[in-house]
Amino acid sequence: MQELERGDSGIRSFASVQSALVMYPIFAYGSDAQKEEWLPKLARGEKIGCFGLTEPDFGSNPAGMITRARETADGYILNGAKMWITNGSIADVAVVWAKLGDVVHGFLVEKGSKGFSAPEMKGKHSLRASVTSELVFDNVMIPISNRLPGGDGLRLPLSCLSQARYGIAWGAIGAAMACYDAALSYAKSRIQFDKPIAAFQITQEKLVHMVTEITKAQLLCVQLGRLKDAGKVRFQQISMAKRNNVFHALAIARESRSILGANGILDEYPVMRHAANLESVMTYEGTHEMHTLIVGEDITGIPAFT
Ligand SMILES: Cc1cc2nc3c(=O)[nH]c(=O)nc-3n(C[C@H](O)[C@H](O)[C@H](O)COP(=O)(O)OP(=O)(O)OC[C@H]3O[C@@H](n4cnc5c(N)ncnc54)[C@H](O)[C@@H]3O)c2cc1C
Repeated sequence: MQELERGDSGIRSFASVQSALVMYPIFAYGSDAQKEEWLPKLARGEKIGCFGLTEPDFGSNPAGMITRARETADGYILNGAKMWITNGSIADVAVVWAKLGDVVHGFLVEKGSKGFSAPEMKGKHSLRASVTSELVFDNVMIPISNRLPGGDGLRLPLSCLSQARYGIAWGAIGAAMACYDAALSYAKSRIQFDKPIAAFQITQEKLVHMVTEITKAQLLCVQLGRLKDAGKVRFQQISMAKRNNVFHALAIARESRSILGANGILDEYPVMRHAANLESVMTYEGTHEMHTLIVGEDITGIPAFT
C-alpha cells in the first residue's frame, strides 16, 4: 500500500479539510465570540480542529457516553476519554461532547489545557494520511466561555454528523471514479489471449456495473444537494446516500482490483489505497449497519437499534 505523505504539510492540508466537521458545531451552536475566534482561522487552515464524540466503549451508541462535565463557580471540570478522533493530537481546538447531568453539551477544549492529552493511535492500515488519536480529560478546567451555548442534547452532535455524511456521500464517488478510471484504462491496454482484456464480456460487465453504480450514486447526491439547497433534506435521506455510496465505492474498488490482476495490489495504482481507506469510511460517520437501521426505521416506523 502506498505510504501517503506523512510530512507536516501533507498532514496539515488533510487535517484542515477535516476541520470542516469542527467548524459546523461552532458555526451552528457557538457564541459570536467563539465564531470570531475560531471560524476564520479554521477556514484558512491556520488552526486545526477535531470533533470528539466516539468513546472507547460507546461508538454506535453515543447516548451512552461517560465523559462528563461538572459545573463549578468558574466554569466546568471535564473528565473522561474519547477515541478514534481524527486530528486529535494536532488539533488546536477540540469540540468535545460530554454530559452535564444527563444532557449532552458541546465544549471547546483548547490545546495545552491542563489535564488534557491526545496520544496518537498507531498501526492503522487505513486512512494513513490522517492522524487519529485518543483524547484524555483528567480534571480539565473549561471556562464558561468555552461551552457551546446554542443548544443541548444528542441532536447537536448528530446534526453535525449529518453535514459530514453528506460530504462523505460525495467523496466516496470520487474514490469510486478513480478506481473505475484505473480499471478502464488498464483493461484497454492489458493484452491476454491476443486481445485487450476490455474485449472480454466478463470485463465489460464489471466496467458497466461500476459506471452504472457511479452514475446512480451521483444522481443520489445531486438530488440530496437540491433538497439541501431548498432546506428540505432529511437525515434519513443522507443516511441512505452515505450507506449506498460508500458500499458501492468499496465494491467498485474491489472489482477494479480484480481487473488489474496482480498489478492491482501495487501502490503504482490508486486502487488498494482507496479500498483500504473505504473500509474506514464504511465504519466512521455511522456504520453501514447503523445507516441501514436509520433508513429501516424511517420506512417501517419501527426502530430496530436495541
Ligand atoms: C479512521 C477513523 C476516524 C474516525 N474519526 C472520528 C472522529 O473524528 N470523531 C469521532 O467522534 N469518531 C471518529 N471515528 C469513530 C467512528 O465514528 C466509530 O468507529 C463508529 O461510530 C463505530 O463505532 P465503533 O468503532 O465503536 O463500533 P461499534 O459501535 O462497537 O460497532 C461494531 C459493529 O457492531 C455493529 N453494531 C453496533 N450496534 C448495532 C446495532 N444496534 N445493530 C446492528 N449492528 C450494530 C456496527 O455496525 C459495527 O459493525 C473514527 C473512526 C475511524 C475508523
